[in-house]
Amino acid sequence: MNIIIFGPPGAGKGTQSSFLVEKRKMYQLSTGDLLRAELKSKSKLSEKLKQIMDKGQLVSDDIINDLIEKKISEPSVKNNIIFDGFPRNIDQAKSLDSMLSKYDQVISLVLNLKVDNSILVKRISGRVSCSICKKPFNEYFDPPVDPSECINERCKNRDLTKRSDDNESTVSNRLSIYQETTLPLLKFYEIKGVVKNVDAMKSIKEVTDQINSELCDL
Ligand SMILES: [Zn+2]
Repeated sequence: MNIIIFGPPGAGKGTQSSFLVEKRKMYQLSTGDLLRAELKSKSKLSEKLKQIMDKGQLVSDDIINDLIEKKISEPSVKNNIIFDGFPRNIDQAKSLDSMLSKYDQVISLVLNLKVDNSILVKRISGRVSCSICKKPFNEYFDPPVDPSECINERCKNRDLTKRSDDNESTVSNRLSIYQETTLPLLKFYEIKGVVKNVDAMKSIKEVTDQINSELCDL
């Protein structure tokens, strides 16, 4: 079956998708990965893509749709896809529907990972990693004893790094973009009766268990 894993940044979509890839051998389709693969392929499209991205422009829906259609038409992934981070708006959802039906496929389940905004802000803006051993952790949820020190006891490095776009104001901005453009998508899928809500504030294990039981119920 094909599923969409849906939810705001920081909800754990990547983590849960990677479990589905590992345990159920599903194919995780992310537009970022498709774009990166195309760029490496030296195709005609890759030259065009390179120009667009070098100029800092957004890749058009048409190009994204072409890449997605190419992928979903592959027999090796048919009816075994997790859409991660796509569709992002109603137009993309409609195109996805028509592309899937062309290859005799549908979306059977939309997993809606729900997390309160206040927790998302802490999950994302609290992300740090050690510049030496690269261990990732969270300043709010698993803080080191000394706030400037690596959480890895054997490392004791004092230089932690943070992604530049992981600060509180950009995170709030990303969350409001999500609410405005992506949340209306849920309505689109709710009408089809395929949405299942998942309380993604629970532990990773509990979230995984609920996702597995939703998949078994299909
Ligand atoms: Zn370290």
